[in-house]
Amino acid sequence: AKRQGKGRICVYTSDMTDTVRTRLNLEQCLHHALERQELELYYQPVFDLAEGSLVGFEALIRWNHPVSGLLLPDQFIRIAEECGLIQSIGSWVLDSALQQLSQWSETTGTTLVMAVNVSPKQFLQDDFLTLVEAALRRWQVPAHQLEIEITESTLQDFQRSRGIVSALRGLGVRVAIDDFGTGYSSLALLKHLPVSRIKIDRSFILALPDNKRDLGLVSVMLKMASSLELQVTAEGVETRQQAEALQQLGCPTVQGFYYGYPLPAARALQGAFTSVQR
Ligand code: C2E
Ligand code: CA
Ligand code: CA
Ligand code: CA
Repeated sequence: AKRQGKGRICVYTSDMTDTVRTRLNLEQCLHHALERQELELYYQPVFDLAEGSLVGFEALIRWNHPVSGLLLPDQFIRIAEECGLIQSIGSWVLDSALQQLSQWSETTGTTLVMAVNVSPKQFLQDDFLTLVEAALRRWQVPAHQLEIEITESTLQDFQRSRGIVSALRGLGVRVAIDDFGTGYSSLALLKHLPVSRIKIDRSFILALPDNKRDLGLVSVMLKMASSLELQVTAEGVETRQQAEALQQLGCPTVQGFYYGYPLPAARALQGAFTSVQR
């Protein structure tokens, strides 16, 4: 146990097996993760296949937990959503990602796009648009260099989310539907939402090129995106075979371990510029 400010005790025990206690403990520690600067953004590059150039990065959150080590978002984002911490964490993510982007714009002299994942609760919070505008202004980032990624589950409150998507687009901010194809009403969403990009979920990419059904589905999604003038990215590209299949299908942009792992800022930038040739 470790004593903290405001008289709070945060128990870090590595042998805790009771999931409830672990969860409570995580939740308690997550309260302090921000102020203790234990949260960090990793960046995964997105590449343009035809040009062989770097498009930008997706920011992916990590928690450097003092005892458990590096935690992935699946281990704490749900908790953050449930205990109401997601708004402050989300604001931090947005702000940090844009700060990083403005720094990279300066050092590289190139126009990169920064994709930021946003949870439903954060997206639907009253002041989300204000936060986005403020962060863009603070870091002097042109709106079109920010891409907000939402999933189909964000769109449960459809009217409301449609209003927010439209307002973001009005600002010039890009909006992507993440994990595209995994929900039940993907096509209906496209009919009613002015999004700028779809990200084809990695479950469709996994079995390429052998699985003809998946090949057909990806091909259809690419054609659909093209005729709707939507940008499209294939996610989770892990092998050369998958990459070649996507290239043959004319997939414009790609992301995945084959092209680059999510990495801390300095290494991400270095890696992205050296692997452009791939
Ligand atoms: P996502 O937005 O679909 O992000 C892609 C996930 O796939 C990332 O996992 C990434 O590391 C992983 N990935 C990338 N390329 C490959 C690949 O080639 N193969 C495989 N198997 N995986 C790949 P990660 O970083 O663990 O993030 C998991 C999820 O957590 C994200 O899924 C996103 O929904 C959420 N998330 C991440 N960062 C944030 C954040 O800042 N805020 C919020 N609200 N959610 C976040
Ligand atoms: Ca994402
Ligand atoms: Ca995804
Ligand atoms: Ca996902």
